[in-house]
Amino acid sequence: YSKKFKKKHYTIYSEELDLKASYKLTIERDLIFAIENNELELYYQPIMDLKNKDKIIALEALIRWHHPELGLVSPCDFIPVAEESGQIIPIGAWVLKTACSQNKLWQDSGIVPFKVAVNISTKQLQQYDFVDSVINILKETNLDPTWLELEVTESILLDDVDIIKTSLSELKKAGVSISIDDFGTGYTSLSYLRQYPFDKVKIDKAFIDDISRDLNGKRITSAIISLAHSLNMDVVAEGIESEIELKYLKEEKCDGGQGYYFSRPLPVNSLKLD
Ligand code: C2E
Ligand code: MG
Ligand code: MG
Ligand code: MG
Repeated sequence: YSKKFKKKHYTIYSEELDLKASYKLTIERDLIFAIENNELELYYQPIMDLKNKDKIIALEALIRWHHPELGLVSPCDFIPVAEESGQIIPIGAWVLKTACSQNKLWQDSGIVPFKVAVNISTKQLQQYDFVDSVINILKETNLDPTWLELEVTESILLDDVDIIKTSLSELKKAGVSISIDDFGTGYTSLSYLRQYPFDKVKIDKAFIDDISRDLNGKRITSAIISLAHSLNMDVVAEGIESEIELKYLKEEKCDGGQGYYFSRPLPVNSLKLD
């Protein structure tokens, strides 16, 4: 009996693995044509000023892939594949170009201007011509660099430290802002971040979820906020979903907030900006 059970269990497990592998292969194969087939789209989610009610600091661009058979594929499912295959380079360039030209369109429409925040993979930052490619896109789209913000994650702190530090400093000198995304999920401490030219720290949603759960959740969030402030960096809380979280973050003088409480990421035509 036990042998039979084991065998059956093994079969299911291996079928599951096959399914996963073939899903990944499909993604990898079809991603190559996603740009030219117009299957990629940027959604945007507002980052609100917590000290100035109703003011938008920035809109974060979040990529979506409309796959002809699989439907809407989450970036969590295809960005890692794109990073592995190298497709992240053309895709990342497409994202930057689309986000910058969209922000220029918004500005030309006469609404109060805000930044556009774009997620950047470590793979992109490791390209020797990354800085030039960003500057070129800004020129091409006619967007002033002060209206662009790049979001990088703690994983950039692990490889090619000097090259990446130099690139980020050059971009900052050009007027682009730099944020550290998902802060607290990696292995670095805030004092280590001081060596990098970051303007902003985005506290990961996991800590914001903990605010309404226990006292430690509150303490960790407050500690990140005050340490970031003491290093002259702004703080944005990610994934705010409730009034309780918002109230606490305001009390603790968090600068900005983003989350379903304010708005989900939306396609351009569904955004209400004015
Ligand atoms: P991220 O940069 O940390 O983006 C925030 C994610 O949290 C987004 O997921 C957003 O939809 C989600 N989110 C925002 N507020 C809430 C909330 O209140 N509750 C919950 N449950 N979730 C919330 P999304 O759009 O699925 O993107 C996932 C990740 O994929 C991003 O995390 C980012 O790391 C990556 N990504 C997205 N677009 C791009 C891109 O253009 N380039 C690169 N390299 N990565 C991207
Ligand atoms: Mg982000
Ligand atoms: Mg994040
Ligand atoms: Mg995240």
